[in-house]
Amino acid sequence: MRCSQCIELFDDYIDGVLTRDTMEKIQAHLRECKHCRVIFHTYSLTIRLSKSCETFNTLSKERIKKLKQTLTRSLRMENKEM
Ligand SMILES: [Zn+2]
Repeated sequence: MRCSQCIELFDDYIDGVLTRDTMEKIQAHLRECKHCRVIFHTYSLTIRLSKSCETFNTLSKERIKKLKQTLTRSLRMENKEM
């Protein structure tokens, strides 16, 4: 699995909506790839924090989706080796 593929799937991974096979591929990639581990940690932390924030809960699903996309994009840009 490529780093970019792995990062794209973080959201679904956190939601637990992926197939067992895909989940295992992500886990395997995270074990091998330090970059994605760091990104995953940051990503899941942000999602968790934002979910506990009241303002965030008043945002529309579309808005949340855009925020997640922006986050994913900026994380990807930080990781220049990808
Ligand atoms: Zn990676």
